[in-house]
Amino acid sequence: MSRGINTRCLHLETDENEISHYGAISYPIYQSATYAHPEVGRSTGYDYNRVSNPTRDQLQKIVASLENGKEALAFSSGMAAVTLLMEMYKPGDHIIADLDLYGGSIRLFNQVNSKNGISFSFVDTLRENIEDYITDNTRAIYIETPTNPMMNITDIRKAADIAHRHGAILVVDNTFMSPYFQNPIDLGADIVVHSGTKYLGGHNDTLAGFLVTASDEISEKLKFLYKTTGSCLAPFDSWLILRGIKTLGIRMERAQQNALEIARWAKTKKSVKKVIYPGLEDHPGHELQKSQARGFGAMLAIELESKEYALKVLKKIRMIKYAESLGGVETLITYPSTQTHADVPKEVREANGITDSLLRISVGIEDVKDLIGELEQVFDETDAGR
Ligand SMILES: *Cc1c(COP(=O)(O)O)cnc(C)c1O
Repeated sequence: MSRGINTRCLHLETDENEISHYGAISYPIYQSATYAHPEVGRSTGYDYNRVSNPTRDQLQKIVASLENGKEALAFSSGMAAVTLLMEMYKPGDHIIADLDLYGGSIRLFNQVNSKNGISFSFVDTLRENIEDYITDNTRAIYIETPTNPMMNITDIRKAADIAHRHGAILVVDNTFMSPYFQNPIDLGADIVVHSGTKYLGGHNDTLAGFLVTASDEISEKLKFLYKTTGSCLAPFDSWLILRGIKTLGIRMERAQQNALEIARWAKTKKSVKKVIYPGLEDHPGHELQKSQARGFGAMLAIELESKEYALKVLKKIRMIKYAESLGGVETLITYPSTQTHADVPKEVREANGITDSLLRISVGIEDVKDLIGELEQVFDETDAGR
């Protein structure tokens, strides 16, 4: 019987047969670029850091275990991970992607991968059927659920089934849920993507990315590309992410609890036109989310009565910071239309509901009374100034 996820954030069962590294409880940082060989043709298991490093290996094993995957590879950022994944494809290949993906992924697909002859269809997985977009050349379906920032939920089991019936693979960017709340491989995904910069690291201090695989065949392909292209995570950064993961569970629980309270508070405000949080019962994806995840996460979006109102809120917040990124212990507010989604064409953005009056909140682990207290004050002042 597999151990619980909080235990797996801390311990690797395979490590427990003997005391290693002088008994160090915190895994050592192997800050070495290369490794001595005992004799010709023999290796300690490590040759050169681009290929492998003990600290990074430890991190990769923990992340693979958290996602119930075969193997994980750690990259210098989430985008480095997605970029490497796209190296699996060649001119003529076709990929179906959710149209509400992370803005950086859309920019990569449209402005970098397309010029290399890979074609993309962007699908509204809420209102359209993915299967209608399948062609003979479709190699992968790439989704994020919940999406960023509209929190649309896609049925992972169904997407996996469509992909597999047509000889394609399913890739799920699981950054928003983290392995603590959702495990796409258990639902049929072939590759899981993470921006480790977000919940896995959790402290807004380190960039990292991951690809987790469900089969040895995909692992082998990706490992060849990994050692060849070189976007590996540095030893010290691997250690920071290892340390962040130790508290993943308690951070996720606390942030989720805060997010639900903020969502409920926002619903009571007249100036808020819409609160988008999958944990609210009136969210259209609430039931589907419950069927495929163990929680709702800590990301929410609120649509305010006007662009001016949204801009005033951004100007007035103090402890809560106006900054890109998410998934850290500090609460951040993002303005998607000029930050994360600036490179998504305005028509596409607005068709997805990403208007100029939308704010995205990444809820942290502060005392929720302080978060709501600050928001209440900012909203009161903004209301008074109208
Ligand atoms: C941040 C993010 C990425 C990109 O990760 P970086 O670490 O910033 O390169 C990809 N997908 C999602 C959902 C993200 O939030």
